[in-house]
Amino acid sequence: MGEISVIKKNALEHHIPIMKDEGIDFICQYIREHSVKKVLEIGSAVGYSAICFASCAKDVTVVTLERDENLFEQARENIAQMGLENQIEIRNEDALEAEVEGLFDIIFIDAAKSQYQKFFEKYERNLAFDGIIITDNLSFHGMVENPGLTKNRNTKQLVRKIRNYIEFLKNNEEFDTVFYSLGDGISVSKRKSKGEH
Ligand code: SAH
Ligand code: MG
Repeated sequence: MGEISVIKKNALEHHIPIMKDEGIDFICQYIREHSVKKVLEIGSAVGYSAICFASCAKDVTVVTLERDENLFEQARENIAQMGLENQIEIRNEDALEAEVEGLFDIIFIDAAKSQYQKFFEKYERNLAFDGIIITDNLSFHGMVENPGLTKNRNTKQLVRKIRNYIEFLKNNEEFDTVFYSLGDGISVSKRKSKGEH
């Protein structure tokens, strides 16, 4: 049996941007409290977060998409080593092109930051009636709140994209979003209940 701590250590050594403990704990707590059965993850990297979610509760299944072939292979190996092939389905696909069937209790967006809104708009149809869409890295190492932290042009552009996404969430007529400053900044979006607007 593999060990999650080893996967985490390797990922950090190779500068893979895995989710922070606080974010993982938050999602795991939600999974347990709401008896979550199905999670869709956009952006697997080496499978670390998917493995964490599947380890929270025995009856959770995770579908996770990764476009990079090399990372996909590593994730597949890690999932196998953890003995979680029954709970995690990993697909080597670009999430902007993939066709995913079914409804999910949690949709976790953790892929290319410039595409967050596209992921949201594409996958909201896969969200269960009372499900939530969680987005990671909305703080982007503090640069979203404090853009002066970077002079790099590409980074500045990404920061702008994240800000636009935050505005999109705030102005979304169908979803209410709560922002949490834990980890690298996450949001939780839930469909508005009828009569609220
Ligand atoms: N969720 C992982 C970290 C993901 S890092 C964890 O916490 O352990 C973001 C990943 O998203 C990268 O591996 C990147 O290759 C992938 N990615 C970026 N854009 C994507 C897309 N359009 N479709 C699928 N994967 C994508
Ligand atoms: Mg992330």
